[in-house]
Amino acid sequence: MARYTGPLCRLCRTEQKKLFLKGDRCKSDKCPINKKRGIPGKDPKARTGKRSDYGIQLREKQRIKRMYGMLETQFRLFFERALRMPGVTGENLVGLLERRLDNVVYRMHFAVNRNQARQFVQHNHILVNNKSVNIPSYQVKPGDVIEIRENSKKLNVIKDALKENSKSGAYPWVSVDADAMKGTFVSVPRRVDVTDLADIKEQLVVELYSK
Ligand code: SF4
Repeated sequence: MARYTGPLCRLCRTEQKKLFLKGDRCKSDKCPINKKRGIPGKDPKARTGKRSDYGIQLREKQRIKRMYGMLETQFRLFFERALRMPGVTGENLVGLLERRLDNVVYRMHFAVNRNQARQFVQHNHILVNNKSVNIPSYQVKPGDVIEIRENSKKLNVIKDALKENSKSGAYPWVSVDADAMKGTFVSVPRRVDVTDLADIKEQLVVELYSK
């Protein structure tokens, strides 16, 4: 599956919001958003004027999509699936995004960001219910056990991620045994529980795709 390979901070600068695409750096003074670096490009002023409704909806969609490291086609497929589910489409969409295997690996603190989590999945470092799964968009179900493959448990990059992330506290919808490098996806999080998306208005994505 194709993915964006350009500079990650540039994506945040475009949105002028933190998308938390890196690890420690996002919380440090080195973050370009903390340094108030402006919109990238030759004519950033052209993008700072009053936005139309369409422009606002588009930017919100881009923010969510970029946070989860997805490209348009796959994100649209997730939306179509959310639309077919019973309940509120925007909330369904967040639930489906949170159930992505790369996201769950990130939420379990095995990786410092979703990008790294995706690499771990693709490089066969992750087991789901004792079976190797290397598809980042794989949908994890409540009760599924996610584990670092035995041979990969010695990798410093995973140990470092666990150490670094242990400072930020656990997410309530996953239970993790850091020593065993193993965790259970307890439940699909309720929308209100996904606090790092607190200022995201997923309803705007629904409005955009419903045009
Ligand atoms: Fe975004 Fe993190 Fe870069 Fe800051 S450091 S601009 S939050 S990716």
